[in-house]
Amino acid sequence: MENKISKIVSLAKRRGFIFPSSEIYGGFGSSYDFGPLGVEMKRNIKQLWWQEMINNHDSVVGLDAAILMNPKVWEASGHLSGFSDYLVECKNCKKRFKSEEAKNKCPECGGELLKPRKFNLMMKTFVGPVEDSASTAYLRAETCQGIYMNFENVLNSMRLKIPFGIAQIGKAFRNEVNPKNFIFRTREFEQMEMQWFCHPKQANKWFNFWKKERINWYLSLGIPKKDLRAVEISAKQRAHYAQKQVDIEYRFPFGWGEIEGIHYRGDWDLSNHSKYSGKDLKYFDQESKEKYFPHIIETSVGVERSLFAFLINAYEEVKGGRTKTTKAVKEAEVVLKIHKKLAPIKIAVLPLVKNKPKIVKKAKEIYQTLKPHFTCLYDQVGSIGRRYRRIDETGVLLAVTVDFQTLDDKTVTLRDRDTMKQERVKAEDLLKTLKEKLK
Ligand code: ATP
Repeated sequence: MENKISKIVSLAKRRGFIFPSSEIYGGFGSSYDFGPLGVEMKRNIKQLWWQEMINNHDSVVGLDAAILMNPKVWEASGHLSGFSDYLVECKNCKKRFKSEEAKNKCPECGGELLKPRKFNLMMKTFVGPVEDSASTAYLRAETCQGIYMNFENVLNSMRLKIPFGIAQIGKAFRNEVNPKNFIFRTREFEQMEMQWFCHPKQANKWFNFWKKERINWYLSLGIPKKDLRAVEISAKQRAHYAQKQVDIEYRFPFGWGEIEGIHYRGDWDLSNHSKYSGKDLKYFDQESKEKYFPHIIETSVGVERSLFAFLINAYEEVKGGRTKTTKAVKEAEVVLKIHKKLAPIKIAVLPLVKNKPKIVKKAKEIYQTLKPHFTCLYDQVGSIGRRYRRIDETGVLLAVTVDFQTLDDKTVTLRDRDTMKQERVKAEDLLKTLKEKLK
């Protein structure tokens, strides 16, 4: 199964999804760049999450807070003292692991391990030209602290009432001991987080509500039930701020792995920030006259991790080739059956041949009319069969082929990625048909 990951890594590079960062210098740790298709897919994920969390729910508003914050934020949040992993090093091969990954001996060479050392995950930087301790700052390790910093600003400016939520998408940084499994664990990643502020007595109800909503989101985007599970995390393994935690896990080829955390943070954040800042962050309920720290339910997804799960889920290899009409046995062919809302490119426009000017002209004309409406590509290089293979590998949903018949009766061929079925559609109805199919 590990093999599947290396196939996806290679496909991701070959087809413009994900490249190793600074590759000409040999790459850099666990950094990756998202290519033309990767960035489209990421944008789709973020847009769908935003739509789900903000547009489809009452009382959730957006925010975009700064990455750099006053270092006191991280003192109060407990990250400077509590956000750490235990690191163990192998005496023999010198490789380092999180202590939970290496129990008694080195997982790589079986060597003896040195005593575990505590390792803070916050990334440090220096603000201002002088590198003294007074100007030390941290790259945020989670986006939600920016939300707590703005709890009052949002509450007052938007005249909200409890319960309500604040959602944000942005970069987070962690100095991970052992980044691995391609984009599963990296030091720089993007999070999509929503913080739901509610009355303490309602927290349990809302925890279950958001857990269900989030699981349904993955199901609605094509992840099958059998590959998804919600795991309650024991007190010993929970994050330092969590009173209750459920991880939504996906069945990766290397085993079950978390893609999203649902955390009940209680009043940990607002009460600590009140204590450290001296500012009273309690909420006053005008009707009941009750004053209290709202409790927080957090939903937190990694953009890249969920993208990885969606890619793995979409990857399908067909031994002997997809076309069964000919006897000739071909090499395994790949089709990325990405959900239509996530697919980076929706439509490919292909002239059947490139040496017939009338066909090429018509295909280019169609491409120009479709481009403002969908992400499209135009491809005239190679035989039509090879081009279908290529677009199947990139997950393009529909191919519009302009052929000789187009010149006679003004129809084009429309080919479906998943079924490979072809139908003829009038060129003048094409836009309407495509909009209908992609709805
Ligand atoms: P893990 O146990 O895998 O380190 P975590 O429990 O520390 O993750 P959270 O703090 O709950 O993760 O973060 C929420 C989400 O952010 C995770 O579910 C994951 O999708 C994403 N995430 C966290 N750390 C990383 C990372 N190093 N690389 C990529 N995504 C990450």
